[in-house]
Amino acid sequence: MSDNSKIEWTDATWNPIRGCTKISPGCTHCYAETFAERFRGVPGHPYEQGFDVRLIPEKLSAPLLWRKPKMIFVNSMSDLFHEDVPEDYILKVAKTMTETSWHTYQVLTKRAERMAALLQTRLAFAAQCSHIWWGVSVENRQHGLPRVEFLRRAPARVRFLSVEPLLEDLGDFPLNEIDWVIAGGESGHGPRPMHPDWIRHLRDHCKSQGVAFFFKQWGGTNKKKAGRVLDGRTHDHFPAAEN
Ligand code: SF4
Repeated sequence: MSDNSKIEWTDATWNPIRGCTKISPGCTHCYAETFAERFRGVPGHPYEQGFDVRLIPEKLSAPLLWRKPKMIFVNSMSDLFHEDVPEDYILKVAKTMTETSWHTYQVLTKRAERMAALLQTRLAFAAQCSHIWWGVSVENRQHGLPRVEFLRRAPARVRFLSVEPLLEDLGDFPLNEIDWVIAGGESGHGPRPMHPDWIRHLRDHCKSQGVAFFFKQWGGTNKKKAGRVLDGRTHDHFPAAEN
């Protein structure tokens, strides 16, 4: 857990679970895996067990200690809906979120089917909270767009997409029921290139559908240099505030 995230679209990260397994092409250069595996075998380090999936119950109540309101990215180092995370544990994470409504939570998954099923059932108590935003990752058409459909059908109050890394043009897919789109290119070692027209198309599609758009980065081997200006400006929109 960190209360000072460097991620452009959040303030803090909270990891009551650590570790994950790859599920689709968006995972190929998973930054969380690279980070975690560096510390495998280091005695006493939080990632002593590398990227193996582990529950961290002592972190469940951490947001209660943060009295100042924060935008919190939930499980930046894992996936809350990973198949090895028991339902009862997911409910405990959600209970902390509902009890700390002064924060705003961003829950992002690639296991959209499981998230959607739980939002209709055991997570219904959290689905309609305006301070909990439920999102799915979308890297391409084949794997990403079916996740969008699960999310659109889920009874969530606030829904968002993380289109990162954008690996191809996504076309004009349905965006109704979606409140926010974050997008960006891949960075790090051997990044897969993002054609400028793919991100322009997505930006224009969001605009035409009235969806808030946040352009995180161009990515590449030097992401700082590449920056986050698209056609002469930054795009920093967030979902409209709800009460
Ligand atoms: S789902 Fe996310 S955390 Fe898990 S391997 Fe893929 S990119 Fe990494």
